[in-house]
Amino acid sequence: MKPTQTDTLPVLTGLRRAELEALVAQLDEKPFRAKQLEKWLFEKTVRSFEDMTDLSKAFRQKLTEQTVLSPHTIRQKISSRDGTTKFLINLADGQTVECVTIVQDHHLTACLSSQVGCTVGCPFCATGLSGFRRNLSVAEIVDQFLLMQHAVQQGALKEFSDHDRISNIVFMGMGEPLLNYDRLLAAIEILNRQIGIGLRRITISTSGIIPGIEKLMQEERDYNLAISLHSANPETRDTLVPINRKYTVATLLDVAKRYADHTGRRITFEYTMLAGHNASRENAFELAEALRGIHCHLNLIAYNPVDSPFQAPPRAEIEAFQRIMVKAGFPTTIRHNHGQDDMAACGQLRIQSVDNNEQPLPMVKA
Ligand code: SAH
Ligand code: SF4
Repeated sequence: MKPTQTDTLPVLTGLRRAELEALVAQLDEKPFRAKQLEKWLFEKTVRSFEDMTDLSKAFRQKLTEQTVLSPHTIRQKISSRDGTTKFLINLADGQTVECVTIVQDHHLTACLSSQVGCTVGCPFCATGLSGFRRNLSVAEIVDQFLLMQHAVQQGALKEFSDHDRISNIVFMGMGEPLLNYDRLLAAIEILNRQIGIGLRRITISTSGIIPGIEKLMQEERDYNLAISLHSANPETRDTLVPINRKYTVATLLDVAKRYADHTGRRITFEYTMLAGHNASRENAFELAEALRGIHCHLNLIAYNPVDSPFQAPPRAEIEAFQRIMVKAGFPTTIRHNHGQDDMAACGQLRIQSVDNNEQPLPMVKA
């Protein structure tokens, strides 16, 4: 797509408080205007300057000419029977990205993407199989939340839930969040300080980017960390999570332990169950041995079929795995596969609905 003049203008939904204040000053407006603007953008989630009714016409005119509120729109929305709703978002350059709302009894959780595609290339993941295009900008990350929050406020989920606001965020959509570190943290700052989601309600899921985890630890904030482990065996993990060749599972578990000890927060390990690869009793014993001494919680996820040769193990095998882990002292849950009836698991909506003229992406090494 050709760049247009608006490509160079600041996108307001990606501005942190100090940046918004600086912009307001630059537009020759009083400082309190920044607060007003922030309220319209992030609390009331309006999508046009006209709706910002307490701003002067002159100010709105300046905003229209010199900024972009947000160029992003919802292209498609699919709900499954349990209320899990996937949104496909149009980005300004013609790319698309997906995000999801998950309805639970006490929470409404938003699952956000951090990249278009992913360089890590896990062979059982639709995003990994699609290759990598680019990192998302701060505004593109925050706007997934705002577009879904706006839709929720407009009643998009009313047949499934009484929630009128999103309460929790997980970075478990497309992409590897810690490979887009600075933008991820800037987006989280907006979600936390300007939108009001507590840091303890925000979870970053990583395939094990060790320098990113180290850096996160040094931020001294309460981020919840989830690590996609999928195997404690080095050879198996090399194939399931190819970044393991660079950041080995032994080093990863060491940094996970330090993260848990340092932050006092329990780490979540995610473990997608793949028949014949990581789901046997022996695999469970090996995992229990490897996790010894780490303050953690284990999430077993049945493989959700995508266009790959993998298969989910029978339910009884997953339950046997869970029993071994619980007996070894690890709190272990089997994660319900939200939205499976409409292929609504992470990474799948885009694959299914994007125009046919979009070619599969080349793999790029992480
Ligand atoms: N890139 C990050 C976050 C996105 S993926 C990460 O890997 O942690 C969120 C979770 O869904 C990861 O644990 C991932 O391994 C898992 N996942 C991906 N494809 C899956 C599939 N087809 N079935 C079940 N889980 C899958
Ligand atoms: Fe990337 Fe996560 Fe998918 Fe692996 S599971 S390819 S890290 S999005």
